[in-house]
Amino acid sequence: MYSQRLFKLGDQASPIRELFNYGQEQARILGPDKVFDFTIGNPSIPLPDVLTEALEDIIKECDPVALHSYSVSAGHPSARKAVADNLNERFGTNYGPQNLYFTCGAAAALCATFAALTYDENSEFIALAPYFPEYHNFVETKGGKFVAVANAPDFRLNLEALEAAINPHTQAVIVNSPNNPSGKVYSEEEIKDLARLLERKSKEYNKPIYIVTDEPYRELVYGGLKVPFIPNYYRDTIVCYSYSKLYSLPGERIGYVLVPPELTDSESVYKAIAGAARTQGYVCAPVLFQRLIERYPDFPVDFSLYELNREKLSTSLKEIGYECVEPEGAFYLFLKAPSGDGSEFSKLAKEKNVLVVPGVGFGCRDYVRVSYCVPTERIERAMPLFAELYQASK
Ligand code: PLP
Repeated sequence: MYSQRLFKLGDQASPIRELFNYGQEQARILGPDKVFDFTIGNPSIPLPDVLTEALEDIIKECDPVALHSYSVSAGHPSARKAVADNLNERFGTNYGPQNLYFTCGAAAALCATFAALTYDENSEFIALAPYFPEYHNFVETKGGKFVAVANAPDFRLNLEALEAAINPHTQAVIVNSPNNPSGKVYSEEEIKDLARLLERKSKEYNKPIYIVTDEPYRELVYGGLKVPFIPNYYRDTIVCYSYSKLYSLPGERIGYVLVPPELTDSESVYKAIAGAARTQGYVCAPVLFQRLIERYPDFPVDFSLYELNREKLSTSLKEIGYECVEPEGAFYLFLKAPSGDGSEFSKLAKEKNVLVVPGVGFGCRDYVRVSYCVPTERIERAMPLFAELYQASK
């Protein structure tokens, strides 16, 4: 006997992975230049040389037994202190190592946080569409309920719809900005309005309604845009962060949960997150990368390749006639299917070996997601095919 729910999750790859795997197979059969894969969010900028050298230095300088030993469950205190100091410097906060818990990327940070906040089987977690599809599985396998709320057509926060979805069982609202898949960055005004709404609802239900932020793209924004640091606007905010996309090392699995001291029941919530990490086997995130982060908590990466790709993709697609919301951050463009059916568009595109992800899994069935963390020439060579697809799908 085994869990049917988990069997299903293991048996079926996510639609993103399925298309990605298909692309890899087609590339083997037809040759890589015949396949236009825009599926997965694998960064295409290499890890900066400074960080590669730092990794080499760490390996050379440290005693190998000590270096590769278990850290304490939350991560080396000196590495957590380096991150806390860096956040304090950037955001004027007052965090210490006791507020941070290193995890295997944002995925583990979110899983531990959802598990910790699942008070009972009625606990609800709200995400605003479009949202990262895995939230649904992350929440529901921890025993909570996932609730999706539609945003405004331009993907600005839809506070009226959010308010209507909040009820006494609401434990948290998940905020992902810069957003995967829309590239939307919520403005300071939107965050202030959200904070006001949640303060009012928390008072009304006499319990904190948390914000759980999911921030793998925090620094990945264009045109000097500032991403509001949400704990500075709303005290009951838990931050789930990842270095996967900032440093282009998603396979190395390093991120953290930040539980600010101002949060209601901060120490207890931190302990519940530590307990969740313990029971899910997430203790002691990869130690080599903890050491890297200790040396470089905030290295300035050059994202000009993504900026160039964003420009090329969005300009060329709009010239063809497509509609899309201009991405302000991350490396995805959310494209409206000309027919209004993203799944049908994705299927048509697949026939031409153009691989784009249907929007239905992100909570928006009329869209597809195009990842532009790819070589620029792939975007250029794919444009005639996008033009044909536009005509075919109109
Ligand atoms: N959240 C969002 C919005 C993402 O796009 C991703 C990865 O693509 C994750 C979480 C998971 O990130 P990580 O690799 O840090 O686990």
